[in-house]
Amino acid sequence: NKEREIRGRFAPSPTGPLHLGNAMTFLVAWLSVRSRGGRIVMRIEDIEGHGRDPAVIEGNCRDLLRLGLEWDEGYRAGGPHGPYRQSERAELYRRALDRLLEQELVYPCVCSRRDARQAGAAPHAGDCRMYDGRCRGRFADYAEAARALASSGRLPAWRFRVPDREVVFRDRLCGGQRVNPALTYGDFPIARHPDGIGYQLAVVTDDIDMRITEVVRGGDLLECTPWQILLYRALAPEFPLPEFCHLPVVTGADGKRLAKRTGSLTLESLFERGVRPGTVLGLLAFWGGWAEFGEELTLPELLERFDLSALRGRKPCLDGAALRLL
Ligand code: GLU
Repeated sequence: NKEREIRGRFAPSPTGPLHLGNAMTFLVAWLSVRSRGGRIVMRIEDIEGHGRDPAVIEGNCRDLLRLGLEWDEGYRAGGPHGPYRQSERAELYRRALDRLLEQELVYPCVCSRRDARQAGAAPHAGDCRMYDGRCRGRFADYAEAARALASSGRLPAWRFRVPDREVVFRDRLCGGQRVNPALTYGDFPIARHPDGIGYQLAVVTDDIDMRITEVVRGGDLLECTPWQILLYRALAPEFPLPEFCHLPVVTGADGKRLAKRTGSLTLESLFERGVRPGTVLGLLAFWGGWAEFGEELTLPELLERFDLSALRGRKPCLDGAALRLL
């Protein structure tokens, strides 16, 4: 039985310059793969209106390389299916949608985002919102749903029919998870309209296509994982699920998650001011529990010390002391 090659990925949404929270995610993804002798794929997630500005994409790549976080395949590095930009892979996603249609796992839905939100019990939670399934079984086909919307100028979405049973998985940091998606989030959107494939389907289709064995990403995406597992099962029942690892979210001193929208300190601006990569790595390593506060580290040194479990329960915070280091 040939051992599976370890394969991880960098999956930036190029919505703006990277901040220290993004850097933490990429660093841990890199350390996890490299400490296991695996390969890294760079995939630019530039769909759903998430920025296609080449300058932002190039800037994100440059910031990662400044920290020494290089990759083996995908954007720029070539690889068998490069360049791995989601905006150029619509055909693949459309075929995935077809497979879900054949299995009758998706249905057309005419609810606007606002209808869907009001229909559900749970409040909007990130990308995930509760939906009561009111369009399930309502239309014979997409064309009928489109006719029902004709006067509004909108197009129907596609929704995934979640089963009423628990999805069980283990996260390398967050531990055992058990979620019944029917009771928490309800049926979720797969595509806003026939050509507008959504994030969940694109991510899973790509992770299958790129034979990804481990997913390391921000903790805010833990709640989307049960949906994605349903998609894995539907699209590639024989494909072993990747290992999931959801990281503690990096906050500012105000306790709020660092966000590109709110203009968090960018790596670009740090490097421009002459902050050394080793200083940044030292701070990230402190957040991970692998270094003392204020240490400077090279990436090889950090790789030596890397221990994923040290991250468990940590609360990385860009507080006043951290800011003074930079
Ligand atoms: N593109 C997503 C982001 O930047 C990450 C997706 C993933 O890692 O699955 O937030």
